[in-house]
Parts: sequence; C-alpha cells; structure tokens
Amino acid sequence: MISRLLSRLSPAARVTLGLVSLALTLLLLFDLVLGVFPNGEKQILQSRQRLAEYTGVQVAALISSDGQRHLPPVLNAMVRRDGSLRSIGVRNADGALLTATTGHADNWRQAVDRTVGRNQFIIPIRASDNGDRWGQVELVFEPISATLIQRAWLSPAVKLMLLFSLAAGAIFYLYLRRTFQHLDPSAAVPARVQSAFDAMNEAVLVLDGNRRIVMHNNAFEALLPERGEPVVGRDPATFPWLMKGIESASDTPAWVECLDSREAVTGVPYEAHTSGGNTRRLTVNASPVLDARNTLRGCMVSFSDVTELEESRMQLVSLMTELSASKEQLEVQNQELQRLASVDAMTGVLNRRAFFPRFEAAYRDAQARNMQFSFVMCDIDKFKTINDVYGHPAGDKVIQGFASVLQRTARDTDIVCRYGGEEFCVALPLTDPRQALAFAERVREQVEAELRQCIELTDRKAITASFGVAALGMGNHTAAELADQADQALYHSKNNGRNRCTVYSRIIAAQQEKLAETKAETQAETQVEIRAETQAESRPA
Ligand code: GH3
Ligand code: MG
Ligand code: MG
Repeated sequence: MISRLLSRLSPAARVTLGLVSLALTLLLLFDLVLGVFPNGEKQILQSRQRLAEYTGVQVAALISSDGQRHLPPVLNAMVRRDGSLRSIGVRNADGALLTATTGHADNWRQAVDRTVGRNQFIIPIRASDNGDRWGQVELVFEPISATLIQRAWLSPAVKLMLLFSLAAGAIFYLYLRRTFQHLDPSAAVPARVQSAFDAMNEAVLVLDGNRRIVMHNNAFEALLPERGEPVVGRDPATFPWLMKGIESASDTPAWVECLDSREAVTGVPYEAHTSGGNTRRLTVNASPVLDARNTLRGCMVSFSDVTELEESRMQLVSLMTELSASKEQLEVQNQELQRLASVDAMTGVLNRRAFFPRFEAAYRDAQARNMQFSFVMCDIDKFKTINDVYGHPAGDKVIQGFASVLQRTARDTDIVCRYGGEEFCVALPLTDPRQALAFAERVREQVEAELRQCIELTDRKAITASFGVAALGMGNHTAAELADQADQALYHSKNNGRNRCTVYSRIIAAQQEKLAETKAETQAETQVEIRAETQAESRPA
C-alpha cells in the first residue's frame, strides 16, 4: 500500500519526503538525548509555581500595607486571567479563611493533601518585621490534562521548528525538482526526438538496464488507466493493468527476457486492462539497446494495440470453425447418402450398382497378383410360391433372413450383394473353388435349417436355395465372365433338383464328357453304316 503510494509520487517528491523524514528523525533523536523540546508537564508546573509565588508576594504586599480590602478584586482578576486556575484563598495562621474566590473552600477540600505542588499550591506569608508566619495563600488549579500539555508543548519554539521543517521541505522539493529535470534522461532528449516518438501509433517505452522507464510516448500514456500517473523512473512491473495480462501468460515479461538475454523478443501477446475498464490486446516487442562498446544500456519496448485486428481474426477463426463444422457435417451427410445409395434398403447388403465396381477391382487385383478368387451366385428356390401363399411381406422377411445368413457366414473381406429380387451373390477374395464350395454349402445348410423360422411354413418342410460357384482360373477373363460362369453353375443346380451347390468346372467336365460320348457314338454309327454299305456293294447282284 505505502510502496504503491510512493510509486505514484515523482522522484523529487519522494526524495523530499525522505529528507524531511530524516530531519524530523534527527530532531527527535536530539530531543531524546539532549532534551531540545520543552517538556510540556514540567513547563506547566513551573509556570504554576511562578504564578503561586507571584500571588503570595502580591497578597503579602497588600496585607502589610493594610490594603486587605483590595484582596478580593485582585484575586478574582487573577482567576479570570488564567484559565487553568480554579480558585485562590487567603488563610490566617489559625486556619480561618480570610478571603477567597468563589468555590475555593470546596475546591481546597476536594484537592487537599493529594496533589500539593501540582494542582494545589500553598505559599506561606510572614509578618515582615518578626518573620512569624502570618498565614498562607492557597491556589487550586485544574488537573493537568493532555490538552494542557499539548497547549504547552506547542510552544512558539516548537511551532517555529515545524514551520522551519515545512519551509525547508518545500525548498528542498523545488530545488530537487529542478535538479531532477536536469538529471531526467527524458528531459535530455531533444524535443524533435520526443515529438517523433509521440507521433508513433505504438506505445513505446525505453527502459534502462535496471528496468526503469527512462522515456515513454503519448500512446503509452493513453493506455494508462489514470491520466497523469507518473511513468518515468518506474519499473513497468509496477503497472498492475499491464502485469495482469502477463501473469495470465505465466511468462516473464518480454522486456525482462530481452534484458536478460540481450536479444530481441517479438510478438508476445498480452492483455492489458487499460483506461475505462477496457481490455486491450497488445503485441509486445522488446529490443536491446546497446552502446558503442556493445554494452547493454537498456531496451526499447513497443506495445502494438491489435485489439481490432485480433477481434477480426477471432471472427475469422470462428467463421472458419463454423465452415469446417458445416463441411464436416456435409461430408457426413454425403457419406450417409453414399451409403444409402450403395446399400440395399431392405437387407443392408450392397446393391448391384455399388457391388460391381468393387467386384471388378477385386477381380483385377487377384488376377494381377495371381491370387485365388471365387464367386458364388445364389437364388431362393420356388420363391414365387412363398409370395403367393404367404404374401409379399412374408416374402420380404424370407429375403431379409437369407441376407442375414449370408452376412453372418461371410468374412469381413467378402463382398455380399443383393443381385436382384431373391438372388444374391458373394465375391470371395483369397478363396479357392473348394473353399468357395464349402462356404456355399454352409450357407445352404443354414438356409435350409433356419429360414423356415421367418414365417410359419405350412406348404413345405423348409425354405431352400440353390448355389453356383465359379473361380478365377476356370477360363474367365473378366469379372462379368466369372459371374456368368457362376450363373451357369446356379442354373445347373436349379435344373438338377435345387437345394444344391454346383461348381462351374464340374459342368464343363460333364459337358466335355458328354461331348466325347456323343462323338464316340457318332463315329461308331458312321463305321456301322460304312460297313453295311461295303457289304451291300460286295454282295453279288
Ligand atoms: P426358382 O426356384 O426357379 O428360382 O423359382 P422361383 O419361384 O424362385 O422363380 P424366380 O426366381 O423367377 O422368382 C422370383 C420372384 O421373386 C418373382 C418376384 O415376384 C419375387 N420378388 C422379386 N423381388 C421381390 C421382393 O423384393 N419381395 C418379394 N416378396 N418378392 C420379390
Ligand atoms: Mg428363385
Ligand atoms: Mg430368381
């Protein structure tokens, strides 16, 4: 608190305050050792003693000159003149009160024997010729209070001393102010440099090596929460409005870092709580000031007010965030749309349009890398009758059940597709015909075992499906040819009793076998005919 108050004073005022305090301390010390200042209480007692003695002399003079009748007005006049004197009484040697001011008998009785020589004084009066005691003069004073002491203490000498201290303080101050003006580095700066400094938009400080401000410009003053606050000679750390922002940055101030490292520190963001309760965003730069011998003399600190710029930037950032959020939302929606466009809504497996590009890519990849690749085509048997007997919705349930069996049985790398109606197909990468047949068999068995649970069957024992299997290496050159081969195999299954799986290569083998048989039969028939003809020709006519 005191240091804050002091920091607001100009250097001249601070030194003056120091000197005056020093002078007063010295005076008090002198008083303690040598008693320079009068002791208030002692002074009061001395003056009371003098007044009592003077009164005694007066009373003795009046008595000896037979002027006793003049005693009452004289005593009353004395009581009136001295504010602290309560009453005076004159008593003879027998103890009888001859004359007294108002209330003296009571005053004397109340005070007697307790504070004689302090609030109560007795002056003996003797007859002048023989020296016998004639009687006494009694004086009763007010008790010595703090106010009385204060009144006595503030004697003209003390007042003079205080006046002298104040006058000396004022002269010190004026003198120091003049001297400081000469010592003030900013006063040494030519006016044109200062006005160039003031023309800058940025707030600028020049600090010495001890972090004391030696120079500042108008723009810096405009940041001050209180107009006219002293700046020169202060450490910027004594500006709470500036340091608040720095504390929150949990960093050493840029100028301290600059002075410590002797290197420029740039672009440090601060929040300053400036005039009118405003929060300004500042960018602080600090550059070292070196002399000709490369010795660090201080640093120059500039505060660029980037509040408006920062606000625009924040607006831009929030706009960008919103934009990227809506872009992300759009992407999510696009992905969802894409998913919806590529997935069959009823079964959740890929539709034909989305399936083919993937199937073709997987086929070409397997072809190029000489890997196994199989394809299975399947169709529910006698499905039309399911629709006819149980209705279309029941047929839908069977289709969904069939797709579910396929998905459960297929691996993640397999591609399942609703080819159309109650026809499905599955592309099986890295799968040879034997494994593909095993897969088809597994599906067939599960369909036969489970699909009847989708609806309550009454017209048959089970719902079944037929399968056709083909694979890379069976003479196909494209994905479409492979699908066609699987389709041929499927129809082979259909034509051979349904609820079965056929591998395309077996049909080819069977067809070739059949072809060979037909050929052999034709040859045999031709030989028989030739032989018959030869026999007829050789027969005699
Ligand atoms: P096959 O054993 O020879 O295959 O006999 P099938 O009765 O199954 O004959 P086909 O495959 O030609 O019949 C397909 C039927 O499937 C024809 C069509 O009405 C029906 N269908 C096609 N799509 C749907 C569908 O989405 N839901 C229902 N419930 N039926 C469909
Ligand atoms: Mg069918
Ligand atoms: Mg069909």
